[in-house]
Amino acid sequence: MKLIVLGAGSIVPTPSRFGSGHYVEAGESRLLLDCGPGVLEKMRNLSLSPFKLTAVLLTHFHIDHVSDIFPLLKLRAFTPEGLPNKSPQKLRIFGPRGLKRFLEILIDNNEFFSYLKTLMRYESYVDIEEVEPWRVFEFEGIRLTSAPVAHDGGVAYRLEYQGASLVFSGDTKFSENLVKLADGVDVLVHECSFPHERLVGQHVSELELAQIVARVKPKTVVVTHLYPVWDHEEYRIVQALEQSYRCKVVVARDCTELTI
Ligand SMILES: [Zn+2]
Ligand SMILES: [Zn+2]
Repeated sequence: MKLIVLGAGSIVPTPSRFGSGHYVEAGESRLLLDCGPGVLEKMRNLSLSPFKLTAVLLTHFHIDHVSDIFPLLKLRAFTPEGLPNKSPQKLRIFGPRGLKRFLEILIDNNEFFSYLKTLMRYESYVDIEEVEPWRVFEFEGIRLTSAPVAHDGGVAYRLEYQGASLVFSGDTKFSENLVKLADGVDVLVHECSFPHERLVGQHVSELELAQIVARVKPKTVVVTHLYPVWDHEEYRIVQALEQSYRCKVVVARDCTELTI
């Protein structure tokens, strides 16, 4: 598997981090873990085709994780040359409970976006799947498991492909479900929104993350979803993690790349 962090930040842009998005290649599969603002532009800069994406996995419905799903759905109705596509390639969209209602409210029942349904018939090239806790999906040789985490109905995902494994936390407070889902994983991609003295909302700081990593025992931890307050303070994350468990630590920036 290959991981490219497209967006390692939050809703507040910095020169090195913006909205959440993580691109995963596994065999012929091309997955997006979250689809926040700027993700399509990062793909364009890296020459990654949005037409080749096979699945999008949304962790929750906050704007910094979903806003690029709308241009993605629209562009898939075209060919890469920009002509109407009579048979667009299927795109799977996984998300937590509420995914169908989210798309209904924002597309089907929205007079300004509903042409995506009426004219472009997005439902004909999209398979929508609401994940249930701990239910396993097998597709394209990938084993996908999800677990609820502590963040506005959000979920974390575990991907396994040919012996390699990756867990993405999405946004969350400290979560026992996350620890269980990620047990022994090769690469743990976990949020670390704020330093502990400035921690707000349903998130973790470097201190909780250090505890999580000590229990999960991943080979590599990729730290993501950093708010701008972390700029020039990232070394503190590395220090906290090194004190709790020895593994490779990558504090992600946009376009950080990793082979699993
Ligand atoms: Zn969130
Ligand atoms: Zn977020």
